[in-house]
Amino acid sequence: MRKVTLLGATGSIGTSTLEVIRLNPDKFSLHAAVASASVEKMVEIVRNFHPQRVAMAKAEAAAVLKRRLQDEKLYAEVLSGEEGILDIAQDGEAPIVVAAIVGAAGLKPIMAAVKTGCIIALANKEALVMSGKLFFKELLAHHAKVLPVDSEHSAIFQSLPYEIQRSLGTCNLHKYGVKKILLTGSGGPFRTKPLDELKNVTVKMAISHPNWSMGPKISVDSATMMNKGLEFIEAKYLFNADFDDIEVLIHPQSVVHSMVSYCDGAVISQMGNPDMKTPIAVALGFPERIVSGTSDFDFLKSGPLSFEAPDFKRYPCLSLAIEACKAGQEATIALNAANEVAVANFLNGRIGYLNISNVVSEVLSSMNLPKVTSLDEVFDLDARSRECARKIIAEI
Ligand code: NAD
Ligand code: MG
Repeated sequence: MRKVTLLGATGSIGTSTLEVIRLNPDKFSLHAAVASASVEKMVEIVRNFHPQRVAMAKAEAAAVLKRRLQDEKLYAEVLSGEEGILDIAQDGEAPIVVAAIVGAAGLKPIMAAVKTGCIIALANKEALVMSGKLFFKELLAHHAKVLPVDSEHSAIFQSLPYEIQRSLGTCNLHKYGVKKILLTGSGGPFRTKPLDELKNVTVKMAISHPNWSMGPKISVDSATMMNKGLEFIEAKYLFNADFDDIEVLIHPQSVVHSMVSYCDGAVISQMGNPDMKTPIAVALGFPERIVSGTSDFDFLKSGPLSFEAPDFKRYPCLSLAIEACKAGQEATIALNAANEVAVANFLNGRIGYLNISNVVSEVLSSMNLPKVTSLDEVFDLDARSRECARKIIAEI
């Protein structure tokens, strides 16, 4: 029986993770759960999974949760704020920590958990985008391990040899005959929309993903393909890849979750339903296979599978992310911060869809980007990039 700490327990990934834990009661128990403010969902988690410790980022939510648990005669230690979350992340009680907080808020808890030498099941790609190098330095120093939860990276992971699976971050792809990582993405809800109509797309349209059900931020990132850009950066760090080793392919059906092509001409892919429970089960169970609760994939019903090259005019965020990846960690920090601010402002109706890429592009071209060598410097640059994005948005 392995204990699991779940960071971001009430979100889309958090809920799917709980489903996998529920289906494997002899293998996993929930040690702790962390979320932002969804009290009722947390009460439900305590009722069904009996974690010993829970934390809410918002102090008022933690106070309400405490009362609600007392009313229901449920027991869990309730902590609050960033301090409480870090306390849980680094308590060292769980050998597996699932990192599913959305955005930059996930980074500090991840870095705290790494220090315990645990396995990080990583959904929060923003952490690698912000601090891939520092993350792997700490990971090695504390003998911690990372396993990808992002479906594409899980697919790539599953298509690579065991030697590489055991040495993520420092592996040598070419030594094992890998020629290319083929990173697939659906192209989102606007893949075929006439370009001149993109200026009119609404929040509702942008968060209606054709294949995947996800949280609002990543849904918008999928529409702009910033998500694929962040995943390009994530793949670079996880698989220690060169830029030329990774190619983005649009695959509208989301059946092939990504592929690895080898020097002998073989291409290995992982396929299945677009259901995050599969990559979550792969990460929790590794190296064993465990049930995930997803239905069997039916090739006879899937229809034809197609592939196309991304159109960078339609997806400027994708090229901005790839260029930032080439420029270095400082540029990817600014990119991620600007994107988070822009997406939040799009979601609350302050800016239009096409403004998202413009804001990111302007932040990247106007920021001066000094070298970052510590987590404090990462957060400092992140904060300055957010400020710059807010100023640009104020003028729209
Ligand atoms: P979501 O918005 O559905 O859930 C986010 C979770 O983080 C919630 O539990 C929320 O309470 C918590 N949270 C937010 N801010 C917090 C804070 N400051 N402190 C503590 N907790 C906080 O998001 P999601 O779609 O589940 O995505 C989570 C992460 O997983 C993201 O980094 C995303 O890129 C990645 N991811 C998601 C999917 C997917 O299918 N949803 C796929 C691949 C990767
Ligand atoms: Mg993904």
